[in-house]
Amino acid sequence: MKEVYLVANWKMNCNLSEASLLTEEILKNLTPEETKNLKIIFCPPFTALERVWDIIKRSKVKVAMGAQNCHFMPCGAFTGEISPKMLLDFCQYVILGHSERRQYFGETDRIINKKIRAAIDTGLRPIVCVGEAKKGEKSQVILSQVKNALEGLEEKYQKQVIFAYEPVWAIGTGDEAEPSYANKIIKEIKEILLEKTPVLYGGSVTSSNISSFIAQEMIDGALIGGASLKAQEFLKIIKKVKKNVG
Ligand code: PEP
Repeated sequence: MKEVYLVANWKMNCNLSEASLLTEEILKNLTPEETKNLKIIFCPPFTALERVWDIIKRSKVKVAMGAQNCHFMPCGAFTGEISPKMLLDFCQYVILGHSERRQYFGETDRIINKKIRAAIDTGLRPIVCVGEAKKGEKSQVILSQVKNALEGLEEKYQKQVIFAYEPVWAIGTGDEAEPSYANKIIKEIKEILLEKTPVLYGGSVTSSNISSFIAQEMIDGALIGGASLKAQEFLKIIKKVKKNVG
């Protein structure tokens, strides 16, 4: 039976009260049985991490926490940055190399590679995003992002990495990839990874299309942006996945 990851990327949304409401609304509508075999990971903005973690810790429903980014240094003169060590108080995961970080904050494969090493050294599992900017681009672009992310990382590091294939043109556009196409790309990605490395799909996942993604052999879960901000929609996604995986 496959273990399915559902990563909720809240991006730059939710102040403390909104984050609490969203977390509580989701948790109160779930039973521990309904989340068995699912790895649900909430990734709120930094400012809401502690509050959301406090709520999650008190719940019987198992949900993990992730941040949306981190620096590669453990501490120091890096104004405005957050280190992996700081995240360890609330998080087990961290999203790295999201296309919005690459596009708006100039993150390169080299920087992402350093962040991956630092996150793992600290005890966090990175969820590394890769994906082509334009529809129809060759998969070589994606594969080279994957190779660069792992450059120089020994097996003990590679074992900790989770990848998310996120075609940039599909993120937040409502134009999701064909599930069979995402499956084909993820198969190619998996061919250059250690066996059992989870690879998720991300890009306009909703309760209407989640089942077709999860039904694909190579897809180990989804990274969900917009649809994870609406409690009822995210609950529908969870319940549909549960139906698929049993
Ligand atoms: C994302 O945040 O990486 C994402 C896939 O967003 P959305 O689900 O809104 O496309």
